[in-house]
Amino acid sequence: MAEIQLRNISKRWGAFVGVDNFDLTIADKEFLVLLGPSGCGKTTTMRMIAGLEDATEGDIIVDGERVNDKEPKDRDVAMVFQSYALYPNMNVYENIRFPLKVRGSDPATHHDRVMQAAERVELLDFLDRKPAALSGGQRQRVALARAIVRKPKVFLMDEPLSNLDAKLRVSTRAQIKNLSHDLAATTIYVTHDQIEAMTLADRVVVMKRGVVQQVGSPTEIYDTPANTFVASFIGSPAMNLMDGEVQGGTFRSQHTEIHGLTAPDGPVTLGFRAEDASLAAAVQGQINAPIYTLELLGDATMISVRINGALVSVKADKAFRAEIGDTVSISVPNEICHIFEATEDGKRI
Ligand code: ATP
Repeated sequence: MAEIQLRNISKRWGAFVGVDNFDLTIADKEFLVLLGPSGCGKTTTMRMIAGLEDATEGDIIVDGERVNDKEPKDRDVAMVFQSYALYPNMNVYENIRFPLKVRGSDPATHHDRVMQAAERVELLDFLDRKPAALSGGQRQRVALARAIVRKPKVFLMDEPLSNLDAKLRVSTRAQIKNLSHDLAATTIYVTHDQIEAMTLADRVVVMKRGVVQQVGSPTEIYDTPANTFVASFIGSPAMNLMDGEVQGGTFRSQHTEIHGLTAPDGPVTLGFRAEDASLAAAVQGQINAPIYTLELLGDATMISVRINGALVSVKADKAFRAEIGDTVSISVPNEICHIFEATEDGKRI
């Protein structure tokens, strides 16, 4: 069992607020991903849970017990860092065994536990090697084995894949998901990569400048972003966002007229995803504008037009052919539109 309650935790250094009133209960065995741009407070939040950083305010409660004053070694958490943090003078076997020695567990059990962990991450052939003689992916697997060897209640992972190449990232990502599921541990995982967040998480926490913007399942965050920051951070390409004006249920912007919206009169930001719109027969479209860019993606063609200086993209069939500058007609059914307040990080209406 490891339910983690973060009760209004904040971290300040002088007047600077690194994390502001983070309040969330993380369920036992949940895979929670903290997602946001560099400097938004993800790592600081995790370091407070690990005990590597004191919370300026708030309570950290694990299974009903307040752990704010507990030393990191007395919290039953294992961390995996981007940098791996392996001991260079120890071979793989000794690196994996290290947490067992430090915690004074029964030495008679060590060998079996190290071998099980090494087998779990396919390192049995490398046990005698020092970290310097391993590839980046192998080092990261040593770090994972070292985290799982003592079966902690909580895993904390800070950008564990960011030093791996694209292919290895995908396979290691799958391995982490699988491990976390098998070990039934509560996992908190930090990343700035929205694809990692979407593929791994039970729930995602999107942060900006120390403040939680939205908490939800990957689907909720993708389908109903709480504000334009979340809308533009999740999805590839990001959600199209257009500033314009609603009058009597009709949204107007440059080259654009969309009828039948449920939205108050006045300025709004309207959003839709590239894959939800489609190309329409000329004149029928709600956006009629010259093509600004055209990218062949293999399985589709991405077309962008410019509305008030902002790029608006639509996914077209892979067979679609046209020239930059040709007028294209885009169909944006009103039911796929997201409407936000026309302010910075405007809230969903
Ligand atoms: P990244 O993805 O770049 O690691 P992050 O979201 O993990 O970013 P944090 O490392 O949590 O961000 O940092 C949050 C903010 O707190 C940043 O603006 C950072 O500069 C600041 N910060 C972190 N540690 C300290 C410190 N010891 N003293 C002052 N400010 C700090």
